[in-house]
Amino acid sequence: MKANGRASELSNNRHFKYDAPARLLLNLLTCFVLEPKFLSGEWRIKEDALAGLKSIKRERDLIYGRMFSIFHHLNVCRNCHATCCAGQYDRFTVFDHISDLASGSDASRPWGFRIRPVGSYAWNRDDTGVCQYFVEGKGCRLAVIERPEICVSYVCGRMREAMTDEQRSEIARLTNMLRGIRWKYIRVLLMGGMEKGAQIPP
Ligand code: SF4
Ligand code: SF4
Repeated sequence: MKANGRASELSNNRHFKYDAPARLLLNLLTCFVLEPKFLSGEWRIKEDALAGLKSIKRERDLIYGRMFSIFHHLNVCRNCHATCCAGQYDRFTVFDHISDLASGSDASRPWGFRIRPVGSYAWNRDDTGVCQYFVEGKGCRLAVIERPEICVSYVCGRMREAMTDEQRSEIARLTNMLRGIRWKYIRVLLMGGMEKGAQIPP
């Protein structure tokens, strides 16, 4: 019953149109307005806005769950020798940070918005070559809903090849919905959801 409810909640979610101008606007607002507010430490999220963010995060978690289920069934990562979790642990963006805050987590993770969110190997902050959340032989130690969006939604060539047409189109739909989630966070926060005050935890 619960699974059916979740599925219909997801399928009823209105599809956000995310074309190139919308993407540019989203990136500009994030880079030059939203992230600087958080980084300044001078702004905090209003209590009533937090309730809105929590509800948006619940939507995001449903999308994560659906994506994870598709990728889990594909099961191509297990036998892959690529190093997707190696060398780059600064994959958290400001949106992942907002999701953390919405869930009440006080986790302090390295984060920062990137127009292209996956940092290059050269940006590896401690040069260990492995994500701090990667455990040898076990994979990511974070629960799926705690992972950076890029780690949940990334589709490589091998995965794309292994997918059916239906799965590809479902992943495209869910990816689009994740972009819509970013817009929802931005709308809540930049339309009166933040106020100057105590520092936001980094
Ligand atoms: S995402 Fe692709 S490249 Fe990365 S581990 Fe999985 S199958 Fe390999
Ligand atoms: S957060 Fe998890 S999935 Fe993402 S790079 Fe680190 S170990 Fe891998």
